[in-house]
Amino acid sequence: MEKKIYKNYINGEWVESASGCTFEDRNPADNREVIGEFQRSNPEDVKRAVEAAKNAYDKWRLYPAPKRAEILFKVAEILVKRKEEFAREMTQEMGKVLKETRGDVQEAIDMSYYMAGEGRRQFGQTTPSELPNKFAMSVRMPMGACALITPWNFPMAIPSWKLMPALICGNTVVFKPATDTPLSAYNLIKSCEEAGIPKGVVNFVTGGGSEVGGPLMKNEDVKLVSFTGSTAVGKTVSEACAPAFKHTNLEMGGKNAIMVMEDANLDLAVEGAIWGGFGTTGQRCTAASRVIVHKKVYQEFAEKFVARAKALKIGNGLDPKVEMGPSINENQLQTVMNYVEIGKKEGAKLISGGNRLVKGDYIHGFFHEPTVFADVDPKMRIAQEEIFGPVVALIPCDNLQNAINICNGVVYGLSASIYTQDVNKAFVAMRDIYTGIFYVNSSTIGAEVHLPFGGTKQTGNGHREAGTAALDVFSEWKTVYIDYSGKLQKAQIDDLNIS
Ligand code: NAD
Repeated sequence: MEKKIYKNYINGEWVESASGCTFEDRNPADNREVIGEFQRSNPEDVKRAVEAAKNAYDKWRLYPAPKRAEILFKVAEILVKRKEEFAREMTQEMGKVLKETRGDVQEAIDMSYYMAGEGRRQFGQTTPSELPNKFAMSVRMPMGACALITPWNFPMAIPSWKLMPALICGNTVVFKPATDTPLSAYNLIKSCEEAGIPKGVVNFVTGGGSEVGGPLMKNEDVKLVSFTGSTAVGKTVSEACAPAFKHTNLEMGGKNAIMVMEDANLDLAVEGAIWGGFGTTGQRCTAASRVIVHKKVYQEFAEKFVARAKALKIGNGLDPKVEMGPSINENQLQTVMNYVEIGKKEGAKLISGGNRLVKGDYIHGFFHEPTVFADVDPKMRIAQEEIFGPVVALIPCDNLQNAINICNGVVYGLSASIYTQDVNKAFVAMRDIYTGIFYVNSSTIGAEVHLPFGGTKQTGNGHREAGTAALDVFSEWKTVYIDYSGKLQKAQIDDLNIS
């Protein structure tokens, strides 16, 4: 790929950062390969971008929602046309296998079409009034300039989950993508430009968390911060926004579990656990990093699971035979390696993997073996903390209630699943697991854009992305009463004489 310098997009212009500096975006499968150079932006760029978003807001909010929708629909059509190209570039910049990066772009397509549909819905309520000759309804109103701050693991899908609902509700945005994946973010923004988004409505500023994300979330003209990333950074967003009561929508870490009951279809459960544990190299917020298995089938499950893990083909995601790519960067790989050491020290049984891959072509990337720990105690750190890598903890359990307790016994609450043929067990688990997402006879992965997405406890702050729930994040309700009686009527006080 030809090395190219990419710019920020502010007020409808592609511009260089006021800092005059850039940073490199490199391929994690082969770190010698530079994908492109991006603007190392600073607070001055953020100020300009927010100003542009603020100035564009009044026109955009008055632009009819079905007309905004037409632009979103065009974005979707552009993404459809360029899906393969964008997927390949995503694999090059962040390592996921091509099948998964195609899925990532597809999710952005789905979200753009879906939110385009919302341009003709965004339903409010009309209800009878308790008083005669009075009309009552509720309407959604946009909020203003929104800050979108996103992680690298779903570099186009997650930005689209924020961008599309923000725009359809009539907001303008300043978008700061993760420093590891600016190219996929650029491809999304370029598609918005091509679709005819008016100037200033969408602004794009690349750069670091503290140099760009910090001033962006603190800017007083930003009315809402929509953040997806780690719980540690999410906490700083929450604290920075609290004094001004700025709206925040926080989607953060996870420590998800699959529960495998004694009556489960074991082969299906193994397949789901492999996909959940090692898909995207374990770097999904919904990754199944814990598998809680009934002791009656524990041994058999462990043997089958390890056999499959050992057989996974690891390498450059552009190779169609490869099933698992690299970690995103050296830091993330070091985190994985540290947790492997922690697991060993805690006394968990390492039954597969456990090493960085350094031979041959692997030496230039951030590759690690799919790793399985057995006989993990639910209180061990490897069973409690988000590792964000290809490390799975197998935890034996005695019965359904024990499995539910273990599953719920972490600070996170994003996704969980149960494998069982018993409908009664499935319903009890569905009721008692306290996560935002729950699956039966399927892995912890596989969200669809028209349903709410998000988590409980330290995974979220009560909001949900996707579905119509996303409209609740990016709009405020206004309740409107219209009294056409010509007199003062008092709710809760006036007596109606119906005789
Ligand atoms: P991260 O928290 O390091 O970074 C997320 C974003 O915040 C990046 O754009 C980063 O530059 C920015 N940022 C970092 N420091 C900042 C600061 N001080 N102020 C403002 N912005 C700052 O997360 P990551 O490593 O990019 O992503 C991995 C994490 O994201 C994992 O914890 C994963 O579970 C989580 N995640 C959650 C969901 C979800 O929907 N719940 C989805 C995907 C990823």
